[in-house]
Amino acid sequence: MTPKVAAFLDSSALATPCLVLDLDRVAENYAALRQALPAAKIYYAVKANPAAPILRLLVGLGSCFDAASIQEINECIAAGASARAISFGNTVKKPSAIAAAFAHGVPLYAFDSIEELHKIAAHAPGSQVYCRIAVNNVGADWPLSKKFGTTLGRARDMMLEAPSLGLVPHGLSFHVGSQQTGTAAYEMAIAEVAMLFTDLKAAGIELKMLNLGGGFPIRYQDDVPSTDSFGHAIMHAMTTHFGNDLPDMLIEPGRAMVGNAGVVAAEVVLVCRRMPEDERRWVYLDIGRYGGLAETEGEAIRYQITAGKGATGPVVLAGPSCDGVDIMYEKTEYRLPLGLQAGERVLIHNAGAYVTSYASQNFNGFAPLAEHYL
Ligand SMILES: *Cc1c(COP(=O)(O)O)cnc(C)c1O
Repeated sequence: MTPKVAAFLDSSALATPCLVLDLDRVAENYAALRQALPAAKIYYAVKANPAAPILRLLVGLGSCFDAASIQEINECIAAGASARAISFGNTVKKPSAIAAAFAHGVPLYAFDSIEELHKIAAHAPGSQVYCRIAVNNVGADWPLSKKFGTTLGRARDMMLEAPSLGLVPHGLSFHVGSQQTGTAAYEMAIAEVAMLFTDLKAAGIELKMLNLGGGFPIRYQDDVPSTDSFGHAIMHAMTTHFGNDLPDMLIEPGRAMVGNAGVVAAEVVLVCRRMPEDERRWVYLDIGRYGGLAETEGEAIRYQITAGKGATGPVVLAGPSCDGVDIMYEKTEYRLPLGLQAGERVLIHNAGAYVTSYASQNFNGFAPLAEHYL
C-alpha cells in the first residue's frame, strides 16, 4: 500500500467496500514497463480497470489501448485517446461494434476465426488485422487460452485469405495467460509464432507486428519475477528467433499496470462458527465474489488480506450475498486475528485490477464497488 493510500484510509471515515487507488503508482508501473521493454509499444488492456482517471493519465503518458468492446473504445476516446492508438483486441465482436470502431478510425482488429475475419472485412473494410494464436498458458494463475486463439496452420490459411477479403494481414498475437508467473511461456510462444512469420514470408505475406499480449504478474502472496526479467527473456527470445528483422512489438499489460496501485477497504459483517468440529471461523465481508472479487473463483487469485492486530487463527472468507458460491477462500489457508469482530475494517491488498470492473449491479441490493482515485 502506498503512503498516499494509507493516509487517505486513515483520514476519512470511508463507506465500505471501496477501492482506493494511487495514480502515481500507475505512472510508475507504466514507466517500469517502458523501461523493461523499450522496443514494445504499450497498449493498456482497458478491462483491467477502465476508470476515467486511469485512462486520462495513460493518454497523457503516451500509452495506446487494447479495447474489448465499443464501450471501452468510447471511454478511451472520451479520455482523450486518438482512435489511431486503439486496438480492437477482442476476437469476438458485434458487427455493429466493428462498424462503430471503424467509423471512429480504429485501425487494428483481432480475430481467431474465419467467421470473425469475414465480419471485419464487411464492417471495417481495408483494415489491418492480426490473428490470435492459442499458446501454452503453463505458469498462469488465470489461464485464458481455452476460449481464444487458433492453431498456426489455421492462422496461416486465414492470413493468406485476408488480402482477397480486402484486409491487410498485419500481424499475430498471443496471450500467455493472466498472472503469468514465469517467463517460459513467452519464450515458447515467441518461438512458435516466429515460424509462422517465416512461413508466411515465403508465401508472399510479410507480417509487420507481433502482439505479445498481457500476463505480466504482480505480487499477491508470493514473489514473482521482476518486470525487467520478463523484458530480458522476451528480448532474448525475439532476437533468437527473429534475428535483426524484429517486427513491431506490442504488449497489452492490464494487471501489471494497475493491480498494485489499489487497495480495497472492506468491513467485517459477521464472524461465526458454522460447525462445532471445524475450528475455523467463518468471516463474512461486505465484499465478495459478486462485489468484485470474481478472480477468487477456484481460489485462483489469492489476495493478501489484513485486519487489526493480535494472535491469528484460521478462517474461511465469504461474501455478504445470499448465494452459495459467494465464498472466496475455503481451501487456501487464511488467518485473521482471533479477536476480529463485526464492524472492523479489513484491507484487500493489490486489488487495483479486475475488481471494480467485475463488481455486479445491485445483486441483493449491494451497490457496485465505490472507487477513489488519488
Ligand atoms: C485481458 C487481456 C489482456 C490483459 O491481461 P493481463 O494479464 O491483465 O496483463 C491483454 N490482452 C488481451 C487480449 C486480453 O484479453
